[in-house]
Amino acid sequence: MKPKNKSLCPICKINKKNPSDKYCKNHLQAKEGLQKGYESWLKAYSILSWEDYLKQLLDLGDQVGNLVRDVVEYEFYFKEN
Ligand SMILES: [Zn+2]
Repeated sequence: MKPKNKSLCPICKINKKNPSDKYCKNHLQAKEGLQKGYESWLKAYSILSWEDYLKQLLDLGDQVGNLVRDVVEYEFYFKEN
């Protein structure tokens, strides 16, 4: 499932500032936080796949911020990496 308009954020459909970015500014920031979180989880649990990490965050539900959850759901269900 590829978005037709490549200049739009695939999550919120607003214009991305830079078309080569994967997401809009807000969602890119959320993704960065997500990656940092993953790195610290990796230190605690030496084996944890990216997908397992996303799944754990999905299980947290409302405890995860909206923007982060958008990215988690998008990456988990569409697996575009
Ligand atoms: Zn967005």
